[in-house]
Amino acid sequence: MRRRYFWIAFFCLLAGLVAAPQADEVRTRVADGFDQPVGRPDAEGYYTSRGFLSYHPGEDWNGLKGGNSDLGAPVYSIGHGYVTFARDARMGWGNVVLIRHVFMEKGTLQTVDSMYAHLDKILVREGQQITRGQQVGTIGTNRGMYIAHLHFEIRKNLNIGLNRSAFKRDLVNYYKPGQFIAARRKLPGSGRSAMIPLNTYNLGRIFESPVNASSPETKAAQEKSPFKKSVPARGSGYRVNRFEDP
Ligand SMILES: [Zn+2]
Repeated sequence: MRRRYFWIAFFCLLAGLVAAPQADEVRTRVADGFDQPVGRPDAEGYYTSRGFLSYHPGEDWNGLKGGNSDLGAPVYSIGHGYVTFARDARMGWGNVVLIRHVFMEKGTLQTVDSMYAHLDKILVREGQQITRGQQVGTIGTNRGMYIAHLHFEIRKNLNIGLNRSAFKRDLVNYYKPGQFIAARRKLPGSGRSAMIPLNTYNLGRIFESPVNASSPETKAAQEKSPFKKSVPARGSGYRVNRFEDP
């Protein structure tokens, strides 16, 4: 008789584990400051070919030598954080990494997303903890669509994700990356950790199949992806909002 209760309890526990919803927050290191995403830490050897504009809520980083001289050059995380997206978003984006950072400002914890787009290679996976200055990928052309450069954004609004066209490209939703970083090179809270929210942006039908099959790292990362369940079947209305401008 006892044994039967044990098995009932055991299967209830098992069922509970299987049915458990995805975590909606995770602990990560509080950023102790931010650096530029290229030419670590001060963007040495790079310039912004396009800044933050009404239609372009980010900055484009190019190598000083011009052309595709920066193709394959390292792209770094601007600070400690957690990878919420790392895959090929196709269309105007190409390979994209999104990192969520928590930092201390005026005594309160703030959260932002940094975005690294058109990457030639992705070197991190979704769900990975990242340290300041860690390489997240390399500068790319998005399959020859652009001259090699890094498209870089910093978002206040954690709901944007890959669905940029649904949000105003203003300073309510975004920071000007250069200004944001310059004002926050060294921050308090070093050594601390804090919770950040997860699943704040909806991939739904916007994003379908990650297709960078050429990269085994990317493939392995996709297997572990927290978004795997939300990815619809191949061929069902794939759509990503294309950049009006790279
Ligand atoms: Zn751009």
